[in-house]
Amino acid sequence: MTRRALTLLFLGSAFLYAQGNPDWHRAIPAFKIAGNLYYVGTADLAVYLIHTPQGNIVINSNFEEDVPTIRKGIEQLGFAYKDTKILLISHAHGDHDAGIGIMQKDTGAKLMVMEQDVAEVQSKAKGRPGAHVDRVLHDGDVVELGGSKLTAHLTAGHTPGCTTWTMQVPEGGKTLNAVIVGSPNVNAGYFLVGNKKYPQIAEDYNRTFPALKKLPCDLFLGAHGAYFGMLAKIDKMKAGGANPFIDPAGYQAYITERESAFRTEWDRQKAHPGSPKQ
Ligand SMILES: [Zn+2]
Repeated sequence: MTRRALTLLFLGSAFLYAQGNPDWHRAIPAFKIAGNLYYVGTADLAVYLIHTPQGNIVINSNFEEDVPTIRKGIEQLGFAYKDTKILLISHAHGDHDAGIGIMQKDTGAKLMVMEQDVAEVQSKAKGRPGAHVDRVLHDGDVVELGGSKLTAHLTAGHTPGCTTWTMQVPEGGKTLNAVIVGSPNVNAGYFLVGNKKYPQIAEDYNRTFPALKKLPCDLFLGAHGAYFGMLAKIDKMKAGGANPFIDPAGYQAYITERESAFRTEWDRQKAHPGSPKQ
């Protein structure tokens, strides 16, 4: 391929990325998932709110342009945006964290981020939030507010500090184990072999899949609605009956399928180093 063709290819994918999926920015009504756990994100970019008597925890900000939509969702539920006390993220990519600095300024909430993603979140580079991290998290750390506890699980690979959040949600006299998957995906352009910026990327993915499989899961959730078939589950929820977000089999099937996709890509890159999937 010529240099010009390569440049065009790069510009083309950068353009597509900037445009993204229309569901990324499409507002949907905020809703209760179970107990004190709510969804306040867009049609695909997931944002979660945990309501407690001492204020709320919000996971993810999406892009800067999505922050007003998130705020509206929080207010639709009858909560105050300013009651956001703690901000968390799934991982340091713009579709989940670019707006986090704005939300931090708006609300004065404390931002807590897994150690390996802190530099990216604090970076002032274009598209990075340039936010101030108030607490640096490590694998297994617990974030607590008003009786709710969230555990940060390092599920690295997608980013070095990619975080899967778990919590126990009280619902109808029972306790449901919620898992909010950070991301098990190998994106286009990821070098799994010979990655100079992130040499241990493949080893990290290799540790992530067994860690995800052993998490107890009733409520299957994640950083994108597409991970857990959210839009179809919202329709099911409206139809009544059992809570469709309780989907332990769907969770295990998803992780198994994503692990096999990772292995296929890793094997392909081992055979053809230097040519990540596009
Ligand atoms: Zn990502």
